Amino acid sequence: MGSLGEDALEYHRLGRPGKLEVNGTKPFITQRDLSLAYTPGVAEPCRHIHQDSEQVYDYTTKGNLVAVATNGTAVLGLGNIGPLAGKPVMEGKAILFKRFADIDVFDPDQFIATVKSLEPTFGGINLEDIKAPDSFYIEETLKKAMRIPVFHDDQHGTAIITSAALLNALKIANKSIETVKVVYCGAGAAAIACAKLHLTLGVHPENLMMCDRKGVIYQGRKEDMNPYKTLFASTTKARILEEAIKDADVFIGLSVKGALSVSMLKSMAENPIVFALANPDPEIEYDEAINARSDVIIATGRSDYPNQVNNVLGFPFIFRGALDVRATDINETMKIAAVKALATLTHEEVPYTVLRAYGLKELSFGRNYLIPKPFDHRVLFWVAPAVAQAAMHTGVARKSLDLDSYKESLEQ
Ligand code: NAP
Ligand code: MG
Repeated sequence: MGSLGEDALEYHRLGRPGKLEVNGTKPFITQRDLSLAYTPGVAEPCRHIHQDSEQVYDYTTKGNLVAVATNGTAVLGLGNIGPLAGKPVMEGKAILFKRFADIDVFDPDQFIATVKSLEPTFGGINLEDIKAPDSFYIEETLKKAMRIPVFHDDQHGTAIITSAALLNALKIANKSIETVKVVYCGAGAAAIACAKLHLTLGVHPENLMMCDRKGVIYQGRKEDMNPYKTLFASTTKARILEEAIKDADVFIGLSVKGALSVSMLKSMAENPIVFALANPDPEIEYDEAINARSDVIIATGRSDYPNQVNNVLGFPFIFRGALDVRATDINETMKIAAVKALATLTHEEVPYTVLRAYGLKELSFGRNYLIPKPFDHRVLFWVAPAVAQAAMHTGVARKSLDLDSYKESLEQ
């Protein structure tokens, strides 16, 4: 074995370069198959779809196809490296969609007009790694223009997973969401979306503060503002994170490595909830936090510590549920349904198959288990039906499903 870097290059290069290919899903061997798949037989589904456009979901791949669309301006922690250099990440995302929820994915490179033009082909659009605030504008514009779900994963995926973890962490800290003081470090795509969803779930606007590179976002601040940051401007005398964090109950880090110091952590309220989610290195190292305070309830983006907050717990299953009811949107109610499903699943007994996958003897709800594990197969049949149900309730589903049989079909 070489280094991780060498192994990764080899992984991406060996055999057919990249990580994806297109596979046929129907027999394609005989002359008869050819005449069914292509002309003349293919004319028949064409005619049906021409008469009733909904039938595109019955006769084509549209209902199982999500576009992962990026302009490459904020790729992982690598920054603005452009769409070509971002392609291995988009292929990676596609593999996760396929592996976890059996959804097929393609990745186009150019923006709003390009994405709009994809509507006939795709049942959903997953926006990815686009820098804030462009990402907000792009998503809003496309959501209005398209009748298929448009979901910016860096925003809403993150918001959904952190919300599930937050609801559970609050149970452990024995605190109420209505009264906790929450400080966000970072005011980009992820932090803004998290703060919005946390407000919907009950965080009080007056108990929320947000910091960026310039410090606290306060009412009247002029420097480095945008309309999205303004939504979260506080009336406070605090000007730097160190002042904002004092006596806070919750720290949500979606910024950069090392932004939270040990002394800041020590100044937080009892049972502090610390989600240090910067990737690959968190705002505070896990061990450093645990050593500084035994009462800390901590999650990071890392797989080598407990409580990994990773979007893979969300997007495959949210899109599975949305596609299966032919949803026109992924709305707030559907996001909250996903949050509740993830939070509730964590309280269920963990099956042996999951323990084995993680080499664990025991795992149960607590400080070290705030959200399900990414390789927990139950996430599919907990989250997707919850999202599908919420879509049906809110009138964005174009197809209705019997939830019990849907859940059963996913379990198989
Ligand atoms: P983004 O849109 O580029 O936003 C980054 C934000 O961090 C900006 O608001 C920036 O401030 C702020 N920031 C940078 N340095 C800071 C500092 N020293 N102190 C305070 N704020 C600082 O990026 P994003 O998509 O929101 O992602 C942010 C981070 O979260 C990345 O590390 C990403 O990997 C991580 N993330 C993790 C997960 C997960 O599931 N674990 C999910 C999503 C994102 P300015 O506005 O002043 O530039
Ligand atoms: Mg991303």
